Amino acid sequence: MRELLHTMQLTGHKAVVVGAGRSGLAAVRLLLALGATVRLLDKRTDALDDTDRIELEERHVVIRLGEHASEDFAGADMVVLSPGVRSASLMPFFDPARPPQVLAELELASWFADAPIIAITGTNGKTTVTTLVGEFLRDAGKSVFVGGNIGTPLSDYILSDQPADVIVLEVSSFQLQNVSSFHPKVSILLNFTPDHLDWHEDIAEYFAAKLNIFSRMDKTDLAILPFDLKEILENKIELACKRVYFTATNRFQAPTLPGRHNQANLEAAWLAVKAFGLSQEQVQSTLNAFPGLPHRIEHVGMVNNVTFINDSKSTTIDSMRAALESVDTPTLLLAGGVFKGGDLDSLTPLFKERLKAVGLFGDSRNDFEPTFSSICPTSYDPTLGEATRRLFALAEPGDTIVLSPGTASFDQYSGYAERGKDFVRVVQELQAEQENS
Ligand code: ADP
Repeated sequence: MRELLHTMQLTGHKAVVVGAGRSGLAAVRLLLALGATVRLLDKRTDALDDTDRIELEERHVVIRLGEHASEDFAGADMVVLSPGVRSASLMPFFDPARPPQVLAELELASWFADAPIIAITGTNGKTTVTTLVGEFLRDAGKSVFVGGNIGTPLSDYILSDQPADVIVLEVSSFQLQNVSSFHPKVSILLNFTPDHLDWHEDIAEYFAAKLNIFSRMDKTDLAILPFDLKEILENKIELACKRVYFTATNRFQAPTLPGRHNQANLEAAWLAVKAFGLSQEQVQSTLNAFPGLPHRIEHVGMVNNVTFINDSKSTTIDSMRAALESVDTPTLLLAGGVFKGGDLDSLTPLFKERLKAVGLFGDSRNDFEPTFSSICPTSYDPTLGEATRRLFALAEPGDTIVLSPGTASFDQYSGYAERGKDFVRVVQELQAEQENS
C-alpha cells in the first residue's frame, strides 16, 4: 500500500460514494483503507452482486440502493462520484449549511499517486493512445500502471502493492468535471468534437471539463495539444505548463493502426513518451509488433475477396469519418444504433466520394436515412446480421464492408464489444458458407 495512505488518514470522516460500478467500489475500498465511515449509493436496485454486497456489509459499509434521499447524505464530509454522476443532480440532497466536498474517484485516488501521471483525454482515440503509451513505456523497461477510465480504476492501483514508474490514465470528461486538484505530469488532449451532449449541459461545459485536465499543471509539466485547436487554446485559455502541438505525420510505420487519425494519435503518444526519455527507434520497434486494438478499424476477415472491418467502437460521427478515410477501396458502410448527435451532413462530400452502399440497422434509422439515401443505395434491416448479409450480397471482389456505426450500441447490445463480436460471428458464418458452397 502507498506510503501516503499511512500518513493521510480519514478516520472519523463520513464519506458517501455515489455509483456502485467498478470505480465506485474501488473508491469505497480506498476510503475504508483510509479509515473513513462509508455509505454506498446507487439508483439501480440491482447494482451490486452478492459477493461485493457481503464483503461491504461485513466491512460496515451502509448500502442504499434506489432513489437518493437527503438522509443518505446527512452528515457527509465527502461525496465521491463515479464517472457519469453529475454533481449538480445531487445538490438538492445536500445540507446547504454544511455542504460536503464533492470529488471524482479519480481525484481521491490521485492524492496518493506515487509516480508521475500521463493523462489522456479527448473525444476519440483515448483508449488507443493510452494503450500505446503504456506499451511504449513497458517495452522500454519501465513498470507501468495503465487504467483509469479503461480497465482498472486508479484507486485499485493505489491499494495494490505493485508500484509503477509511470501511471498512464485514460480520463473522460465525466471524470474531469469533478476534479480540482488532479495534477498530471503530462496531459494529452487528443481532439475535441461534439459528443456526450446528452450528458453535458452544452458544448462549452464539455470543453471546460476537458480543459480541467490542465488546471493544476505548472511550468515543469507538459500539455500535448492538437494543432487544429491551437488558435482557441493560445488565445482563449491560460495554461501555466509547457505546450507542444501535434498533427498527423508519417514518422511511424504502423500497419495495424490505419488512417491519418492514427498517425495523429501516434504523434501525441510519441511526444508523451519522448518526455520520459524514449527514442523514436524504441517506439517504432514496439509498433512493429503491435497487434492493433479490437473493435477499432480491425480487419476481421475476407470472403470472396470482400474485406470486413470491425469498427464497432465508433460511437461518434467523427470516428465514422476516421474509419471511412482509412479505407481506400470501394466501401459499403454498416451504421445504426443509438445516435448521440453530430453533424452528419458535414460528411456528405466524404460519403459521396467513398460510399458504394449503406446498410442501416437497429435504431437511428430516421437520423441516418435522409442523408445516406440521397447519396447511395441505402437499405434498412432490423438487425446487424441481416444488414451485413444484405451488403455482402451487393459487394463485389475488392470491396470493403465496414461496420462503423457512429452510435452507442445500447438499443440491441450490452456494449460496443458485444456488437463487434456479433459482427465477427456473421463474418465467420459467411466464411463457412462460402467454404461449403
Ligand atoms: P475512445 O477511448 O476515446 O473512445 P478509442 O481509441 O477507443 O477512443 O477509439 C474509438 C473510435 O474512435 C474508434 O472507432 C476509432 O477508430 C476512432 N478513433 C480513434 N482515434 C481517433 C481520432 N484521433 N479521431 C477520430 N476517430 C478516432
